[in-house]
Amino acid sequence: MSLVHEIDYGTPAPRTDKMVTLTIDGMEVSVREGTSIMRAAMEMGTQIPKLCATDSLDAFGSCRLCLVEIEGRNGTPASCTTPVAPGMKVHTQTARLAQLRRGVMELYISDHPLDCLTCAANGDCELQDMAGAVGLREVRYGMEGANHFAPASELTLPKDESNPYFTYDPSKCIVCNRCVRACEEVQGTFALTISGRGFDSRVSAGQSEAFLTSECVSCGACVQACPTATLSEKRLIEIGTPEHSVVTTCAYCGVGCTFKAEMRGEEVVRMVPWKDGKANRGHSCVKGRFAWGYATHQDRVLNPMIRAKVTDPWREVTWEEAIAHTASELKRIQDAYGRKSVGGITSSRCTNEEAYLVQKLIRAGFGTNNVDTCARVCHSPTGYGLNQAFGTSAGTQDFDSVEDSDVILIIGANPTDGHPVFGSRMKKRLREGAKLIVVDPRRIDLVRSAHIKADFHLPLQPGTNVAVVTSLAHVVVTEGLVNEEYVRQYCDWDEFQDWAEFVADQRHSPEEVQKLSGVPAELIRGAARLYATGGNAAIYYGLGVTEHSQGSTTVMAIANLAMATGNIGRRGVGVNPLRGQNNVQGSCDMGSFPHELPGYRHISDDATRATFEAMWGRPLDPEPGLRIPNMLDSAVDGTFKAIYIQGEDILQSDPDTHHVAAGLAAMELVIVQDLFLNETANYAHVFLPGCTFLEKDGTFTNAERRIQLVRKVMAPKNGYGDWEVTQMLAQAIGLDWTYTHPSQVMDEIAALTPTFAGVSFKKLDEMGSVQWPCNDANPEGMPIMHINGFARGKGKFVVTEYVPTDERSGARFPLLLTTGRILSQYNVGAQTRRTENSVWHPEDVLEIHPHDAEQRGVREGDWVRIDSRAGSTTLRAEITDRVAPGVVYTTFHHPGTQANVVTTDFSDWATNCPEFKVTAVQISRSNGPSEWQEDYDAFARQSRRIAVAAE
Ligand code: SF4
Repeated sequence: MSLVHEIDYGTPAPRTDKMVTLTIDGMEVSVREGTSIMRAAMEMGTQIPKLCATDSLDAFGSCRLCLVEIEGRNGTPASCTTPVAPGMKVHTQTARLAQLRRGVMELYISDHPLDCLTCAANGDCELQDMAGAVGLREVRYGMEGANHFAPASELTLPKDESNPYFTYDPSKCIVCNRCVRACEEVQGTFALTISGRGFDSRVSAGQSEAFLTSECVSCGACVQACPTATLSEKRLIEIGTPEHSVVTTCAYCGVGCTFKAEMRGEEVVRMVPWKDGKANRGHSCVKGRFAWGYATHQDRVLNPMIRAKVTDPWREVTWEEAIAHTASELKRIQDAYGRKSVGGITSSRCTNEEAYLVQKLIRAGFGTNNVDTCARVCHSPTGYGLNQAFGTSAGTQDFDSVEDSDVILIIGANPTDGHPVFGSRMKKRLREGAKLIVVDPRRIDLVRSAHIKADFHLPLQPGTNVAVVTSLAHVVVTEGLVNEEYVRQYCDWDEFQDWAEFVADQRHSPEEVQKLSGVPAELIRGAARLYATGGNAAIYYGLGVTEHSQGSTTVMAIANLAMATGNIGRRGVGVNPLRGQNNVQGSCDMGSFPHELPGYRHISDDATRATFEAMWGRPLDPEPGLRIPNMLDSAVDGTFKAIYIQGEDILQSDPDTHHVAAGLAAMELVIVQDLFLNETANYAHVFLPGCTFLEKDGTFTNAERRIQLVRKVMAPKNGYGDWEVTQMLAQAIGLDWTYTHPSQVMDEIAALTPTFAGVSFKKLDEMGSVQWPCNDANPEGMPIMHINGFARGKGKFVVTEYVPTDERSGARFPLLLTTGRILSQYNVGAQTRRTENSVWHPEDVLEIHPHDAEQRGVREGDWVRIDSRAGSTTLRAEITDRVAPGVVYTTFHHPGTQANVVTTDFSDWATNCPEFKVTAVQISRSNGPSEWQEDYDAFARQSRRIAVAAE
């Protein structure tokens, strides 16, 4: 594909069915009411020169280039800010306009450095393009502008190179305001401003701070908006203008942003957010936009390796030897210990096709259902809870839906860090006037940020979600706020009545729940009234809901609340799990759970199993297999002996690290397929190099059930796509797989999975993306689910009794630790730690309230030790009132800290999802890293040794 340029039409037209007919340059044109003249002209193919307008921003009308003449009106209004009117006669190309535009352009050019030939933006500079478009040949005013002759050293504002990914050269700034507006309107951070006056006007980050230390979050929106080279990617300056581009999908979070990978040969120059991307609408965050350098990081392992014992150095071998050795070891172990002594883990970082093949290999090749996925430790309660209530294991809305929300209720999620691009959409809607309720023990950014203040923040004690959500329902029921018409039409009325009687009980009143949750009763009452009566109300939730011993119960409590108030089945409402990893929805859809085949059909169902057996040519075990924690328990017990792990680092991501390590250490064969020698690989016997999303074809499914293509932009550096490695292993153990492209795998998925029946690579290529279910009934997918009733028939109300977790604070462990993520790092950090993103978060820190810190004599930056029943670790303290007294918080991005050493093995009653969000701990001052951290460092160093090949 050659370089893909998107056409910029200026500010999009409003959503309306009303049309207006006018004449532009003698041609009659009909456009939507409210459309700007610029947009109307662009849509009919007439280019109007512009600098300050772009289609991601509101019209601004400052550059004075897009002037037009309108018959019957005086002057030359800016076409970007002038809406069309019926019968209007517009002229865009007259001699007078041409002269005016040239005059304006002369002023810009007279104050702009004349270094076009050496400028990074040469050939990609709107100022240069517009000078050509208006026919500017000479500058009559001379070159007296402040930026012309001043060498860089004499400029009043020097270049700012502080950001690791882009530079700011104030000499090239034309003060069009696009970057400032992008930061405000698109990103919602308000980090940029215009400082100075006249010739001295410049963009500046904060109060003339360096970009790195300002509030800039490096989303890249300003760089994207800049029409000159004032804000430029460093890679563009280093390696030059791209030659071709490929549209693909980000491999970080569940938002699923699409990007144009702009390439020079096999090198990525930059990742530019794709305006037609339906999940991101042209926006990005620092991870997808800039943090892809891990793909070529020196730590990447490109050759397969094997070893007999984990204390041996690794030995590099050929792919043939690695695959043959792995297959023969698997056979040996199954012969010795039985069919069910082996299993595998699919990856939510890999494609749908790869996850599908791994579970197929395990079920059809190993003959067991011992397959699980990392959703076990994140959103498995979503799958269970929403399936119970609605009949589908997925969120109900598309991201666009938030534009129609009047009330946004966020529970246990931190969208601006965890799902930043959607977080920005949410902020935009909130700035437009939507109300906000946040239920979270921590004061996340959305509670109080630029131009946003939550109407209610319910800072509950970790572990009391069910009590608080049920109490919200108590207010809805007891104050007569139920949408009875909706419930009678779409839900099981008998179940509703049982549930209503349950929640109405006085023990669920806000006053009672205040005693155990710590949330003032009036906040619960106010939030419930707002949610039930404020118009379209949407719930967004994250791992702060699911990673609890009652994670599934909370999901069902949320579903109850939405159904009782009729907030399901249209734009602006719904129940929306914010999925963590890029393809966690997809890996679940693909049959990665031990009890479910693709499409969430139970393995014990004879008819479903028969369909798969016929297609796969192998008998399948009707018994569900082991979940990850059960595999580890069985390994410790001596009955589970081998595991194939594709693209997961369970040692770092799963709870109770010591137990995970014990399980892995007890196995005879641990096969890790990954980019790097991760922490789990310290216990591996076979290492199969993986490839990055840049090196593969396939699909990811994001949090809105949107299936999108991942397109290969370079050849796999390790030689094979991940799906090909799984196929080689399958063939080595006797399966007759002959796929030649991942599209054939998707064809097989479509043939076997009713919700994917209409999906194909061809359709995805044509449509850009599709939200499942996609089948004969919904050939173009389904953006909003349950519009006229639920997938399961009648919506199911479930009684949600609050059961306090067994993990309680007490005299020995008086504080509650909860964990989460931050913007710049991702999950276990394997990728982001190998990029410049670490400048923002070089280590995990412990947030502690000033009161708790003072009691323990802890000062800012001190080393502190966290002790829990499971273990202890050490990290530095950050004293902040973001957390309430009694609560401490940390992230788990760095293996040197391994926060999961202290998390316990308590888990969700229905799905075994670990209770990451509640761990009783004690904090004390420390002198530095704890003993295990030093021991582990030594072990990891030893385990990662690679034998030097004999001469
Ligand atoms: Fe990638 Fe998520 Fe950032 Fe989008 S929001 S660029 S999908 S990490």
